[in-house]
Amino acid sequence: MKNFIRKKENFICEHCGKRVVGDGYTDHCPKCLWGKHVDREIPGDRESDCRGLMEPIRVLYEKGIFKIIYKCTKCNHEFGVRSRKGDSRKLLVSMVK
Ligand SMILES: [Zn+2]
Ligand SMILES: [Zn+2]
Repeated sequence: MKNFIRKKENFICEHCGKRVVGDGYTDHCPKCLWGKHVDREIPGDRESDCRGLMEPIRVLYEKGIFKIIYKCTKCNHEFGVRSRKGDSRKLLVSMVK
């Protein structure tokens, strides 16, 4: 058994350089929406050691919720995460297909 402690982490977006204040769940940059491949299955699990940049490839809009579909630029892993409060709505809307 390993202790899983969710830690708050701030990070600098490796895509646009924005300083992002993390709340422990933050997995992508609210400005450009790029993320980093750190989670394997569940957002926040931080189980992946890939650390590649995650490119937002499209956005789904369902029942009032934006879902961002990512593709890792390093390992090609694809997954979707819910958008977060503070994400650029303009960018989200422009990416809905
Ligand atoms: Zn960014
Ligand atoms: Zn990856």
